[in-house]
Amino acid sequence: MRESQWTKILGWPGYRVYRSEIKEEAKRLRLWVRRKVGNRRLECSGCGRRIHRIAEVYEREVRDLPWSEYRTTVVIELYRVGCPDCGVKAEKVPQLPSKAPFSKHFEEAVGLACESAAVRGVARQFGLSSSTVRAIDLRSLKRWAKARWKPALRQMGVDEIYLGKKQKFLTVVSNLETGEPLWFGRERKKETLDEFFQTQLSAFQRSAIRAACVDMHEPYRLSLVQWVPQCRLIYDKFHVMQHANEAVAEVRRAEFFRKGGAARELIKGKHWLLLTRWVHLNTHKKRQLNELFALNRRVMKAYLLKESLDRLWNYTYEGAMLRYLQSWIDQLRWQRLKPMEKLAQMLLNHLEGILNYCRTKVPLGVVEAVNGNIKALLRRGRGYRDLDYLLLKAQRLAATKTEFVAFQKAA
Ligand SMILES: [Zn+2]
Repeated sequence: MRESQWTKILGWPGYRVYRSEIKEEAKRLRLWVRRKVGNRRLECSGCGRRIHRIAEVYEREVRDLPWSEYRTTVVIELYRVGCPDCGVKAEKVPQLPSKAPFSKHFEEAVGLACESAAVRGVARQFGLSSSTVRAIDLRSLKRWAKARWKPALRQMGVDEIYLGKKQKFLTVVSNLETGEPLWFGRERKKETLDEFFQTQLSAFQRSAIRAACVDMHEPYRLSLVQWVPQCRLIYDKFHVMQHANEAVAEVRRAEFFRKGGAARELIKGKHWLLLTRWVHLNTHKKRQLNELFALNRRVMKAYLLKESLDRLWNYTYEGAMLRYLQSWIDQLRWQRLKPMEKLAQMLLNHLEGILNYCRTKVPLGVVEAVNGNIKALLRRGRGYRDLDYLLLKAQRLAATKTEFVAFQKAA
């Protein structure tokens, strides 16, 4: 094959192949490239300014995309330039995004593969170590994030994700309009959210925030009141229903211990059924739940109360919503369901924020989707000890909308 054909196949703008070598048995292809005659523009890799003085010529080897079954190495002729500001520096070459021995094409291919597969799988596919794949993925994500336009934050979501016994909670701040996670913080204290406002936004940017969807979690509220006093707090359906599910679970647990023998067997393992909404259950599951309810009326009552609370968000007028909530609370009388009474008290204490749902339109389901996406990433990747990496992954996921998790599931 002629060198000009290799130049076309390699496809590095401004560079041409001047020598090639194929090793049959080893399945290796080596291409030597240098600048095309017309490509004379030199830039300092330190500051990006245009340079005319060449200090030195040298060669670097990088791995490029394979050509058929041949693993490809590109040997590139490079210059070190004399920059008035930085001194002697390597020139800036778009095809070489980092100091690592990989071309831009190669890093992009690895980054793309990481979008839909676990690191270990990608490592096997490309014949790299897992740590190398992770480093490449992180670099390509950073490049993507840098080049991207970031919309203003007007409606924010604040959420917590339970990571497990050791790491406890992660606070997630997201932009509800774009469905994109913006920031992660360890734990779920007031100081956690304070740090977001302090380090991520200017006073002007903070003043642009109109609404926040949050959990009825006091530390978050305190931080929001302090940093964005003009912002409307909304206790959205997703968060309130999480508490409702928790109340049902508590009733079930109490009954589990109270009853003995056969009844206990029936209650056992029905936790997930109770969290699921009736309309999402199949006939068999519905029968199972009915059997449980026949034995235990309290669990049934709690379940029905949860189901009817769900309809609160069908109302778009404040008055109607308030009336519905009032009648829901009235149903609790004489039921002796302590966890449900506690829930009702919580709703009353946060009434303003619940009714704010009628006053400010926020996209529902976004908080839940962001939450679900991050959980899916954590399940797949295990041990994202680097929060910046996890955040970039989640942002990329939101931007490409691959595998947006369906939000019908409760819990
Ligand atoms: Zn420079």
